[in-house]
Amino acid sequence: MPQNTLSNEFLSTLNTHKVENQPRWNKFNLFKADKPLQFWLRKFDGNWAEDRLINLGKFYGDQGVEEGELANNYPPEFVSHDRNGHRIDTVSYHPSYHRLMDFAVSNQIPSLPWQENKQGAHVIRAVMEYLHMQADAGSGCPLTMTFAAVAALKHSPKIAQEWLPKITADRYDGEDKPYYEKQGVTIGMAMTEKQGGSDVRANTTYAEPISKAGNGEVYRIVGHKWFCSAPMSDGFLVLAQAERGLSCFLMPRWTPEGQKNHFQIQRLKSKLGNKSNASSEIEFRGASAWLIGEEGKGVRTIIDMVSLTRFDCMVGSSALMRSALFHALNFTSQRNAFGKKLIDQPLMKNVLADLALESEAVLALSMRVAHALDNRENESEKQFTRIVTAIGKYWICKRAPHFIYEAMESIGGIGYVESNFLPRLYREAPVNAIWEGSGNVQCLDLLRVMLKEPETIESMLKELSSQQGIYEKYDQFLDQTVRLLAVSENIEFRLRIIVDHLAKAIIASTLIKYGEAQVAEVYCEEKLFRNGESIGTFSSDKWVDYLIARSACQLIVS
Ligand SMILES: Cc1cc2nc3c(=O)[nH]c(=O)nc-3n(C[C@H](O)[C@H](O)[C@H](O)COP(=O)(O)OP(=O)(O)OC[C@H]3O[C@@H](n4cnc5c(N)ncnc54)[C@H](O)[C@@H]3O)c2cc1C
Repeated sequence: MPQNTLSNEFLSTLNTHKVENQPRWNKFNLFKADKPLQFWLRKFDGNWAEDRLINLGKFYGDQGVEEGELANNYPPEFVSHDRNGHRIDTVSYHPSYHRLMDFAVSNQIPSLPWQENKQGAHVIRAVMEYLHMQADAGSGCPLTMTFAAVAALKHSPKIAQEWLPKITADRYDGEDKPYYEKQGVTIGMAMTEKQGGSDVRANTTYAEPISKAGNGEVYRIVGHKWFCSAPMSDGFLVLAQAERGLSCFLMPRWTPEGQKNHFQIQRLKSKLGNKSNASSEIEFRGASAWLIGEEGKGVRTIIDMVSLTRFDCMVGSSALMRSALFHALNFTSQRNAFGKKLIDQPLMKNVLADLALESEAVLALSMRVAHALDNRENESEKQFTRIVTAIGKYWICKRAPHFIYEAMESIGGIGYVESNFLPRLYREAPVNAIWEGSGNVQCLDLLRVMLKEPETIESMLKELSSQQGIYEKYDQFLDQTVRLLAVSENIEFRLRIIVDHLAKAIIASTLIKYGEAQVAEVYCEEKLFRNGESIGTFSSDKWVDYLIARSACQLIVS
């Protein structure tokens, strides 16, 4: 039948249904919409950057999220040779990746505390990283490594003098060209080898001085690395065996003579998540690199970088959790089931309040460590950073996957669908626990501190006990934690129990000392001695509406 003869009445029967009760996706200013984030920023002296953070929040909640989507949907590709067969060892990224990097570097995400020696600078940088990671975690990797490398490079004043101004410049240049032709550079790190990642002593990559040995001198390096993320970085902190043992080097991708260094990419890893970031396998075929610090003291040198990348794993996983919470709150506040908005259903309230509390708890812990970094001249804050970075990385990164899964479930079936945001967050979540020292390695790090620097534990316990006398459950929990620490028998086997306790005690103490009283109260009442294993098992609804409103009240921001 010709179409124009169909009656309107018949045509209306072809409309199978109206799309109803499906929430709209809103664009948010990720900073303005996040009340707990603003709270912790102000608490730890970061208010002087609020205008800048409002701009960042606008970008990351809008264009940044879209760029992140593209950068992950079109992951980087390895280009081994040019069309004429010359080896070029390059990686081609989607333009969105470069735009994200450009925005982040020009807003000083890798450099703020190194450029502005002001109280709150580490806190502000952590907040910026937190916002960036919600749009795209993959590009967060080179940003973090570039930020953290500064601490290690300071071990070699000669090299630092040439490289630090470019590393801390607010200029991004993603071109494949020598570092000295660039105004700004990025830095990667290559430690892990096939036969050993956690145990870097097993590294077989070796280094020999070209003319003379010593800090800042040039060495020739032969070997391989099983993981090297962001292989288009301009320089890499590399571990290799020298005559006096494992040593740290800075290897430029292009030599000072203007040639590609003898550094070959074998292939890119195909990963579960973290798609926008390239992670490669590489080989050094006589690549040249400068010794950083003393020969044989490579771990001691690079650990200054690694402790900061570990801190960023805390911030990064907290950001993924916040993003998942955001989506859960956005959806449940618009979706009806059984006659009410999901967010108003008592059982869902229990889940959402628990997620909101957990999200603020990990944010508070991350910001507390950022605050300690701002005050690292103070010995007890330095000790706090040392110990709480290991505990926090272990605790936060491990909680993210389950947290994100639970947020996904609160969105229902569409939460599991790729066009939604949650699958990307979920795939991203495990990596922060694995790289930069996996869970057990963090626990063993704590044990090392317990055995070699007992004064550090003492100082932390002093801080924890200063919050006693307010919440009975906190007092009981702290007593239990101290008793656990006192038993040395079979301690390595029991380490995870100890770290779990310490993590919860430190979070509770941070919330009591610096946080809102309601948040501290619920954490002490509901989290220290949990009522059930699952999320959403609060025994009381006393502060549930408060917690949800605290995270959701600013949800609709254009
Ligand atoms: C996406 C991605 C990107 C990466 N990028 C980089 C990079 O840029 N540069 C780089 O150098 N590395 C990188 N890595 C490597 C990463 O840091 C290592 O995979 C990690 O440190 C673990 O090392 P491994 O894989 O050799 O595992 P192993 O060291 O074999 O450890 C396996 C497991 O055993 C546990 N374990 C180890 N020792 C002990 C012990 N004594 N007691 C109990 N348990 C123990 C570990 O906690 C871990 O769970 C990357 C990894 C991933 C997944």
